[in-house]
Amino acid sequence: MSTYQRLPVTFVRGDGARLWDTAGNEYLDALSGISVCNLGHAHPAVTSTLCEQAGRLIHTSNLYGIASQEALGDVLTELAGMDKVFFANSGAEANEAAIKLARLYGHQRGIKAPAIVVMESSFHGRTLATLSATGSRKAQAGFEPLVQGFVRVPFGDLDALAAVAANQSDVVAVLAEPIQGEGGVNVPPSDYLPGVRELCDERGWLMILDEIQTGMARTGRPFAYQHHDFKPDVMTLAKALGNGVPIGACLAQGAAAELFGPGNHGSTFGGNPLSSAVALTVCREISTGQLWEQAARLGNRIKQGLLAALDDVDGVQEVRGCGLMIGIQLDRPCGTLVLQAMQRGLLINVTADSVIRLLPPLIIDDAQADQLIQTVGSIVRDFLTAT
Ligand SMILES: *Cc1c(COP(=O)(O)O)cnc(C)c1O
Repeated sequence: MSTYQRLPVTFVRGDGARLWDTAGNEYLDALSGISVCNLGHAHPAVTSTLCEQAGRLIHTSNLYGIASQEALGDVLTELAGMDKVFFANSGAEANEAAIKLARLYGHQRGIKAPAIVVMESSFHGRTLATLSATGSRKAQAGFEPLVQGFVRVPFGDLDALAAVAANQSDVVAVLAEPIQGEGGVNVPPSDYLPGVRELCDERGWLMILDEIQTGMARTGRPFAYQHHDFKPDVMTLAKALGNGVPIGACLAQGAAAELFGPGNHGSTFGGNPLSSAVALTVCREISTGQLWEQAARLGNRIKQGLLAALDDVDGVQEVRGCGLMIGIQLDRPCGTLVLQAMQRGLLINVTADSVIRLLPPLIIDDAQADQLIQTVGSIVRDFLTAT
């Protein structure tokens, strides 16, 4: 079905941060399949784990023990400082699990119609519940009636959240991305997430962070909340967890980790031997620390480089982001830049109409980072001085 407006290119091979199309043209990938291939394409450890596990056992079902799922659960909860995890197959499904946890939490406290506070400009997925939680009328239009039980506030606004706390007694949780991805690489004020944590503690709300795009070392820490010194009650992951092999996860700590019992939730494929083995390899690669340090260092290099390259160009409003999640806010719609960059051998993305989004693999080297700065700098300059 025509759910995507595709670009006129097909890739046949990848290696690290490079991709090659059917005609043999080479590209520098500054999108990573939307923050999925954080270890780059054809990563040797991922490939060998995948091949080896496929040759041994792909699927049994969650009716039986799954050794690689248990090992992944141990490594992942350790890396995140969480207690327990449920495995799904995608980001939307991980968020569905988190939404169900919040509702169960409410019902166990005698709240019959529990509400979850969600953010304007958020993105949480395309299933009915996650679409209802998403802060985009464009994504929702035509799919009404939406799922009830969401209260929306502006992102980054603690006063708005406090007002909901003062006026509404059926709230049980807050769901937010630490940095909004699809919404335009929106970084909240530095006191925002700690403030949300404090309010959640005061009110007995669950703090749910959607780290599907920000997690797995992207922002310069294993998970974005680790830039602060608090933990969420629930965190969701997907995208880079399997480096391209579909897997999602809903992690929880404290009371939230004890909510689900047998029969409350499930998934046929979730955490199967194949995807778990690959995600375990990805987690081990990340847990050495090298990748998130590299993301922090190169993120700064690219941000500084772009600021210097675009310093004198009218129409560049802001270069923002954290680690290798970078947005360039222009003063006008700039979707055409995606094709222009592609014609110059660079894959980028434009989101929220006027934000160039860069999500390169975390294994890019300094020379590739400089190539990225140079190409983006020149196409943005040409674009803004010509229109
Ligand atoms: C991509 C994304 C999702 C949805 O993940 P799917 O695997 O496409 O269902 C949810 N939340 C955030 C923040 C995302 O970036």
